[in-house]
Amino acid sequence: MEELEVCPFCGKEVKLDEDGFYMFCCDNCGAGVSFAKVLADGTATDMDKKESIDAWNRREN
Ligand SMILES: [Zn+2]
Repeated sequence: MEELEVCPFCGKEVKLDEDGFYMFCCDNCGAGVSFAKVLADGTATDMDKKESIDAWNRREN
């Protein structure tokens, strides 16, 4: 399991929900965060698992 940064809202551990797309879920405060990216043609799509984890750990959104 990859190392995930803690919840930015409450500081507790989060889990990565992989049900169709990748969402970081916090059982403590109920936060749910997913990440999207914009493709070259201007459409948005969900990030894959590695991209999502990188984005979460970088806290760019
Ligand atoms: Zn939380």
